[in-house]
Amino acid sequence: MIDVEKLAEKILTQDRRALSRAITLVESSRKDHRAQAVDLVQRLHQDSGQSLRIGLSGTPGVGKSTFIETFGSFLTAQGLSVAVLAVDPSSTRSGGSILGDKTRMNRLARDPKAFIRPSPSQSHLGGVARRTREAVAICEAAGFDIVLIETVGVGQSETIVSEMADLFVLLLAPAGGDELQGVKRGIMEMADIILVNKADGDLKPAAVRTCADYAGALRLLRKREQDPDHFPAAMLVSAVAETGLEQAWKSMRDLVKWRKKAGHFQIKRASQARFWFEEDVKQGVLAVLAQSEIQQDIQKMGERVFQGDLLPTVAAAEILAKLSQD
Ligand code: GDP
Repeated sequence: MIDVEKLAEKILTQDRRALSRAITLVESSRKDHRAQAVDLVQRLHQDSGQSLRIGLSGTPGVGKSTFIETFGSFLTAQGLSVAVLAVDPSSTRSGGSILGDKTRMNRLARDPKAFIRPSPSQSHLGGVARRTREAVAICEAAGFDIVLIETVGVGQSETIVSEMADLFVLLLAPAGGDELQGVKRGIMEMADIILVNKADGDLKPAAVRTCADYAGALRLLRKREQDPDHFPAAMLVSAVAETGLEQAWKSMRDLVKWRKKAGHFQIKRASQARFWFEEDVKQGVLAVLAQSEIQQDIQKMGERVFQGDLLPTVAAAEILAKLSQD
């Protein structure tokens, strides 16, 4: 039996083992663990909310691990503490991880001002989202200045990360030739800052071109009232040569400072809280539905829809009518 009160106290003293245990607790799907996790997050609530939450996305190979290692070390060298969490959709499907946690970020992993948590596995994306949010809250209570939430650029995971981050950074690699990389419009729209990585050596000219292309695309794509002039921004970095970090960090801080002053920062967090409340209700309703007797009706009707006996809309209307009778 876990003593939640004690665990909460230890987290507030930044005890690393307690931090790991707490995150393991929120990742557990056992019912008793879930209740304890909710209790824990509630106890820590007052001490959460102080960190800057940075979402970072990019397709495999753009240099996320290398960049987080370099950028994380750059931040800790300035006296800031950094927690790295990951939302990895691959681990939910195959049990394997695109983010390949174990071998990554050796330097940062040894840094006493950093904490790296491998991504949770074996769960559907909705569950991963909730657990990651809870893990963010725990890291905040432990006093980390920055919480970096990393994800691979596939599927729904960017949306999840952008809905729990204060700012969203998209990492790209230099494109060969003059084609824009296949970055989906939706992801571009989420990005506050695009960092074109690998701006070093032979790749530098291509990086400069790619950066200019994206700067242009961003200008066409988005101008929101949450953005000051010059944002969303595109800039060059090299995780290997460790260049551009200062400028990238300055842009992040400038954006946050501006949004705080304009009131957008808090509004965004409040909207995110509402978004997650509604998501949790939806997930909960689906879970209740999956357990309920009506599940059998859904299966039977699904079979009839499959056979062509019943129209999908008619079948759905019948199920919904049954639900509203109960
Ligand atoms: P991830 O899959 O996005 O986490 O990418 P990795 O960090 O594993 O990097 C993929 C490859 O790109 C590795 O071979 C890195 O050495 C290389 N790489 C990462 N950052 C840079 C960089 O700034 N410059 C160059 N030239 N290569 C880089």
